[in-house]
Amino acid sequence: MEKNNLSAKKRMMLGLILYLIVCIVLVSRLVYLQFIDAGDLRAKAEEQQRSARDVGARRGTIYDCSGETILAISSTVYTVTVNPMKIPADKKEILANKLSEIFELDYEKVLKRVNKKSAIETIIKRQDKEKTDTLRAWMEENEIYVGINIDEDTKRYYPFSNLASHIIGFCGSDNQGLEGIEAKYEDVLSGKSGEINSLTDAKGQSFGDEGENYIEPTDGKDLVLSIDSNIQAIVQKHLEEACIDNVCTDGGSIIAMNPQNGDILALANYPNYDLNNPYQPVDESLKTVWQDLEQVQRSNYLMGMWRNKAIADTYEPGSTFKLVTASSSLEEGLADVDRAGAFCCSGAIEIAGVRIKCWRYYRPHGSESLREALMNSCNPVFIGLGQKIGKEKYYSYLEKFGFLKKTGIDLPRRSRKYFLKRGEGRTSRACNYFFWSAF
Ligand SMILES: [Zn+2]
Repeated sequence: MEKNNLSAKKRMMLGLILYLIVCIVLVSRLVYLQFIDAGDLRAKAEEQQRSARDVGARRGTIYDCSGETILAISSTVYTVTVNPMKIPADKKEILANKLSEIFELDYEKVLKRVNKKSAIETIIKRQDKEKTDTLRAWMEENEIYVGINIDEDTKRYYPFSNLASHIIGFCGSDNQGLEGIEAKYEDVLSGKSGEINSLTDAKGQSFGDEGENYIEPTDGKDLVLSIDSNIQAIVQKHLEEACIDNVCTDGGSIIAMNPQNGDILALANYPNYDLNNPYQPVDESLKTVWQDLEQVQRSNYLMGMWRNKAIADTYEPGSTFKLVTASSSLEEGLADVDRAGAFCCSGAIEIAGVRIKCWRYYRPHGSESLREALMNSCNPVFIGLGQKIGKEKYYSYLEKFGFLKKTGIDLPRRSRKYFLKRGEGRTSRACNYFFWSAF
């Protein structure tokens, strides 16, 4: 009897301890879920319940200086998404089949998306109306009214393809500006995307009576450029002809500026590229082997093709700089435009131990006025004038002409100014020559 009592007590104690352990485990789990893991769980639940689709803002239009000729515009396209939880199980395969047929997609990949346990899956972006209308008609025929969304979006279009390509630039897959004006003015052009929000339960049905919550997108602002599309077209035509006729393997660049106010009226590089196909090489022979090239080769080529050489590359101004020397000397009263015999070209001049020839050294220009020296592009005359003006004064004129400042052109990837001061170029004859030829 005594023994039985003892074992009954022991059993009760054991039961109590077990009960306490179970309670502690349950309470701990509850505390863990409620306080420690709550954030993650809430996020997971929201992800399953919330089915948000972006509504793209209309990107601003880019016009030429007339404010009427359109250089870049956004046209309406459609994004197709599905809500897998709203699609009946027996319709999933037939739907995946139809989607892959209309949009030319891989059936297995589409089926995987349609079968996912998420509230929203993107099937394809930027489709034209024709294809999405086919899908709409099929949905009606098969009486599928929920689970497939066809939302409006925008796609960039460049009506003149390769006109001003290095100025305008282009956009990436998410409509973000990647080059040129499109990149530089991304903030102005892009606007702000809107959203279609709806909360759904485990069966994919909407919560509450509100239905979908639509947050309207804010459209981007338009831009009017200083570029004149007519001048740009003329400049491109003649640049192309000149580069082909003269076999300029490195291409060429032209900038046309309004001298009254500095407006850039045209800016062209040859070769240019098609803004509607910016990832296609322009080189015909390259097109045939394009797919066989290494990724790094392709991207190097494309970076070169997109580079705006007119503003990104440096080059010697050469004889064009004689105009600066001529005007500085006139301003300083060191020369008259038409005083006959004011200068004399003997075919060469020696500077710091380096003999610099006139281009017509074999038959020197002899006696010249300033106007004639400029017409003849006579090196010794302008080197002599540079010496007369003097280092300090000459440099102050470079400053006054604005050569020491940035150009202020609002395009990405400008080059830095690059000047050799007197003496800096003495380490090599080539540099020395560059300095003086600039005079
Ligand atoms: Zn000469």
